[in-house]
Order: sequence, then C-alpha cells, then structure tokens
Amino acid sequence: MLGAKVKTYDNARWFTFRSINDTLMVEKGAYVKTIAIVNQKGGVGKTTTAINLAAYLARLGKKVLLVDLDPQGNATSGLGIDKYASEHSLYDVLVKGVSIDIVRHSTNVDKVDLIPSNHNLSGAEIDLVSVADREHVLSSVLSKAEGEYDICLIDCPPSLGLLSVNGLVAADYVFVPVQTEFYAMEGMGQLVQTIQRIQQNLNPSLSILGVVLTMYDSRTSLSSQVRQEVERVFGDLVFKTVIPRNVRLAEAPSHGEPIVQYDKWSKGARSYKALAKEVLNRL
Ligand code: ATP
Ligand code: MG
Repeated sequence: MLGAKVKTYDNARWFTFRSINDTLMVEKGAYVKTIAIVNQKGGVGKTTTAINLAAYLARLGKKVLLVDLDPQGNATSGLGIDKYASEHSLYDVLVKGVSIDIVRHSTNVDKVDLIPSNHNLSGAEIDLVSVADREHVLSSVLSKAEGEYDICLIDCPPSLGLLSVNGLVAADYVFVPVQTEFYAMEGMGQLVQTIQRIQQNLNPSLSILGVVLTMYDSRTSLSSQVRQEVERVFGDLVFKTVIPRNVRLAEAPSHGEPIVQYDKWSKGARSYKALAKEVLNRL
C-alpha cells in the first residue's frame, strides 16, 4: 500500500519512518493532479520521465501541463522548444508576476503544454528569498490554471533548494525516479525527510505517488540487486514497470521529441507507456 511502512538510510545509517501517506491521503477530486518529479541526485532520469510520462498521459487522453522547474531547461529543449527564443519563461512568472497565459507554450505533442525555463531561473532562488510566502509562489501561479489541465507534471532541478520546495508545495504527489546504480539509495533519507517536513509545515496533502527504477540493465546482477534493495526499502511504492537503459530514450531529446514520436516501438517507449498506465491507476 502507498502508506506502507518504509525503511530508508543515509550514509549507511538505517532508520525507519512511517510514511505519513497513511494519515494524509486526502480525497482527490476532479481538479488538476499535480505531480512533482523529484530527486536531488543529478542525472537519474527526472527529465526523461517528465517528458515521456507527459506524452503518454496525453496519449491516454489527459490534458497535461509540464512545468520546467530546472534552470538547465532540459524539459524545454527536450520538447523541441528553444530555451532562449521566448521573451518570457518560468522565471518571469515566479519573480515578475507575468501571467502563466503569456508564458506557456503548446508543444509538438498534442495535449501537452509547457512552461519553459532557461538559466535565468537560477536567479529565482535568490530573488524569492525576500518574498513573503516564497515557498508558495509556484503553487499560487499554478492554481490559476486549475480546470484547464487534468495533470500537471513538475520537472524539478537536482537539488532540494527553494525551487524544488516550491514544486513540492504546489504538488499533490511526489514521483521519485531512482537510477539503478550502486549509489541509488544515497540521499533518499534526506529526500524523504524533506517530503515529511513539507507535509508537516507547508503542504499537508502531499503524498508519495511512487518510485520508478530507471536505466535498468537486465544483463547485470547489480541492477537486480539494486531493484531488490529499493523494493525492500520502499515496498509497494515502487512501480512494477522499470525503465530500461535504452539508447533511443537518450537520443530522443536531441530531436526535440518524446519517445512516442521518436521511436514508439523501442523498449524505452513501451516501458514509459506502461508506466503512464500505472500512474493513472494510482491517481
Ligand atoms: P538532472 O538532474 O541533470 O536534471 P535528470 O535526473 O533530469 O538530470 P535526465 O536528464 O532525464 O536526468 O537523464 C540524464 C541522462 O541520461 C540524459 O542524457 C538522458 O538522455 C539519459 N537517460 C535518461 N534515462 C535513460 C534511459 N532509460 N536509458 C538511457 N539513457 C537515459
Ligand atoms: Mg533534469
């Protein structure tokens, strides 16, 4: 169950915590479901997951808004949008109060809109410091798009700074991609503690939607060992679908396309399609 007892560790020091999903599962109505894709570790597949989940959720009939909350702007360029072509980006929405209607883009994926970002966004961490309610800025911005979308995905940067905190405060759910590698669980304790703090202080309706293993290589015993370890720690929170290491997934962003458009018969495509179905079943 989503509220199962979960064990995790940091720096080889084990501790347990009771997922407060149990007590905090709230009735979710027909409003937009917002999912923050978070892991402070870099390069674990957050953006790849954000783009491809967005595309497959749209194929499954959902209207999706993808928010690029990373100054690297990878979700933006990965969807074929020039990070610097637009006059405005997410930075202007968060810091200058520019309307979301002006900044959001349609994409070459039917039913997927994007709020783009570029390196300007790194300034937001500093510019928002003196703002009252600085953790709620994204949340209040996104509430203005309520009703227009079924699902909002937030691609967070590889840190747990103010931008990611804004993502977690705006979200109903946290989605954690974990790369299938030796250091997979490093930092998980810190991530879970951050989620708990946000649940307790800033966003009581936040819950963990799930954990997905990425870049899985079925030929190696390391991959299956890491999978066992992640499943031991996170239990039923781990999605049944694992995302394989697949070169087509790595190539797709350079063509500005999600995998469903770049190579829908690839292993990577089939796995993200299955993941999107699992995600919908959990919402
Ligand atoms: P960052 O923390 O920098 O934002 P990230 O967590 O968003 O990184 P991605 O950008 O999605 O991670 O992926 C990191 C790199 O790994 C990229 O080059 C991407 O194309 C590649 N990659 C992601 N998933 C896979 C996969 N399943 N198979 C092969 N390559 C992948
Ligand atoms: Mg990324």
